[in-house]
Amino acid sequence: MRGSHPGAFEVAHALARDGKSFTAPTDLDEQYDLFVVGGGLSGLAAAYYYRKRFGADSRILILENHDDFGGHAKRNEFHQGGQMRLSWGGTSNLEYPMFNDTVKALLGELGVDIDRLLEGYEFRYGSGPKGSPAIFFDADTYGRNGLIRGYSFRAGRIDDPVAMIDRFPVSETSRESLKKFFARRENVFAGRSAAEVDEILRNISYTGFLTAMPR
Ligand SMILES: Cc1cc2nc3c(=O)[nH]c(=O)nc-3n(C[C@H](O)[C@H](O)[C@H](O)COP(=O)(O)OP(=O)(O)OC[C@H]3O[C@@H](n4cnc5c(N)ncnc54)[C@H](O)[C@@H]3O)c2cc1C
Repeated sequence: MRGSHPGAFEVAHALARDGKSFTAPTDLDEQYDLFVVGGGLSGLAAAYYYRKRFGADSRILILENHDDFGGHAKRNEFHQGGQMRLSWGGTSNLEYPMFNDTVKALLGELGVDIDRLLEGYEFRYGSGPKGSPAIFFDADTYGRNGLIRGYSFRAGRIDDPVAMIDRFPVSETSRESLKKFFARRENVFAGRSAAEVDEILRNISYTGFLTAMPR
């Protein structure tokens, strides 16, 4: 989710792209009961359960090729205007009641208090008092930074998506073709059988669909 960054991929790149190899690995003379490759939730859970089963003396080595553990669930830090904005990572819906008993027990053992979490939870997918859907246009791509508030491409979020396109910092021609695209209501698959539609959709990319389907 954070992407790979310098420090995480140099060795793999050297092996894959530059034909390098590990010529003289150092023997650390260390012994472990368990190696875990990857310190995401799965790897950390594996280590946790191993230790629980085989005792606190178990020697476990978790190999992680990023700067911190957590994998996709690692918290995100964004720095903006000298301040850090903090957001959770791939744990955005811990309140969902669909976890099985094993996960619920683990959350409990780790002291994750879902009720307390919900008390401090402000994010409402753009429908809460503190947020609304918005699209950010960045200066590098669009010439100036611009935040179009109250807008989402998701259906049902806004009354008139076409009118909002007038506020996009893109050329007149682009605005008009976007409006045409969103206002379009005909079925581009009309006249084709379900099997044909299935075949097309299985083999076409999204870009291909937007550019190659009959207009
Ligand atoms: C935005 C978002 C929201 C989500 N919300 C929820 C939610 O609310 N509830 C929920 O249950 N799930 C949620 N998920 C899914 C959940 O985050 C993931 O399923 C989970 O984090 C996956 O964990 P994992 O350990 O299996 O994999 P990963 O998190 O991908 O961990 C793999 C780890 O292995 C490391 N690694 C990879 N290759 C190597 C290597 N060669 N050597 C060493 N280390 C390596 C990686 O750096 C990484 O740390 C969400 C995901 C996202 C992206």
